[in-house]
Amino acid sequence: MSRVLVIGCGGVANVAIRKCCQADDVFTELCIASRTKSKCDALAEALKGKTKTVVTTAQVDADKVDELVELIKSYKPDLVMNIALPYQDLTIMDACLICGVNYMDTANYEPEDTDDPEWRAIYEKRCKEQGFSAYFDYSWQWAYREKFEKAGLTALLGCGFDPGVTQAYCAYAKKHEFDTIDTIDILDCNGGDHGYAFATNFNPEVNLREVSAPGSYIENGKWVEIPAMSIKREYDFDKVGQKDMYLLHHEELESLALNIPEVKRIRFFMTFGQSYLTHMKCLENVGMLSTTPINFEGHEIVPIKFLKALLPDPASLGPHTHGKTNIGCIFTGKKDGKDKTYYIYNVCDHQECYKEVESQAISYTTGVPAMCGAMMLLTGKWTEKGVHTVEEFDPDPFLDALDKYGLPRSENFAPVLVD
Ligand code: NDP
Repeated sequence: MSRVLVIGCGGVANVAIRKCCQADDVFTELCIASRTKSKCDALAEALKGKTKTVVTTAQVDADKVDELVELIKSYKPDLVMNIALPYQDLTIMDACLICGVNYMDTANYEPEDTDDPEWRAIYEKRCKEQGFSAYFDYSWQWAYREKFEKAGLTALLGCGFDPGVTQAYCAYAKKHEFDTIDTIDILDCNGGDHGYAFATNFNPEVNLREVSAPGSYIENGKWVEIPAMSIKREYDFDKVGQKDMYLLHHEELESLALNIPEVKRIRFFMTFGQSYLTHMKCLENVGMLSTTPINFEGHEIVPIKFLKALLPDPASLGPHTHGKTNIGCIFTGKKDGKDKTYYIYNVCDHQECYKEVESQAISYTTGVPAMCGAMMLLTGKWTEKGVHTVEEFDPDPFLDALDKYGLPRSENFAPVLVD
């Protein structure tokens, strides 16, 4: 028996909510609240007669703590699932603290306005001290650790696939396969084709900011930053085939370096086709990825927001996307004094996802872990108070839930390594 408030009703939330409704013995009551209520109502309507979960809807602007507090106080949920955008992480955490409710999200905090001088000063200090320049990092949410601990509440951060499942794979490798881990390579391959010359698989603004930023990895406890897309490798992915992949900065590197300190090197690679990269470079060169407002014919517009309005809605890509994703982690290290390698990954088919929940696999591979993470908190499998990332919890019940709810793991005990 549980009451859950989901904030956001985009591509990922649609999957998470549909999956919650499949597990209606755990998710007995659910409120979908977002900026545009009509989207919540349409989903609630689509779910009618298909679940025992009692679904209601509400309108909320999650940038406003007072609106969130009013909603949380009236609905009285056991858990708030933040599946809106990373810009809302802190306001929703604040509201959860005020109301005494557990919190979770799928991506770490990033400000909407990166020109805000107050934020910029802290950001630039961090760039110098830490050595990576991504707009997002965990420091903003880790600053809430003591407050959540003292309130006896849990905040689960980044419970999608990557971040999320990738960290559970690391915790699993550490618990069952290795005495010490030397290197981790996280490989995110999307072998899907949506038929458009250019489209992003999740929120275009967040996606393009992430991909156009400098790459970085961790070596011997320190960040090494490189120009965007300057390290390329080829890899032959199970069930997908040969793909080009590029080293990116990614948020889980930061928490993994902290929580598995013995690891000498952690890298993250993502596959991209040439068409995507050429379009992105061109858009960047002409200033369309900028977050700084410009005046256009008397109106103020933010270029990347205007671009978002032109691009296909990621939630609409489902029917057109064919092919598979393959996301996982390759480890090297030692077990019982011997060298060992190990690869754990999931393969997910875009069309199978569409048949099940009317979504492509990127939203599916994020929404299912969000539902399974919520299930861990609601069923008392993960009880640690404070602010935590996925690798800090027991991976076993979470991976079992993923196996059951659509993202089964595969293993390879002699993988090809990435040089
Ligand atoms: P979408 O843009 O499809 O959906 C975002 C939703 O949030 C929309 O319903 C939007 O409402 C709502 N929203 C935005 N601002 C507000 C606000 N101020 N108040 C209330 N609701 C708001 O994004 P996705 O579903 O693609 O992504 C959701 C999250 O998942 C993002 O944080 C993204 O970074 C993360 N993600 C994580 C991954 C992982 O593996 N960990 C992978 C992919 C995504 P409206 O309809 O009005 O715009």
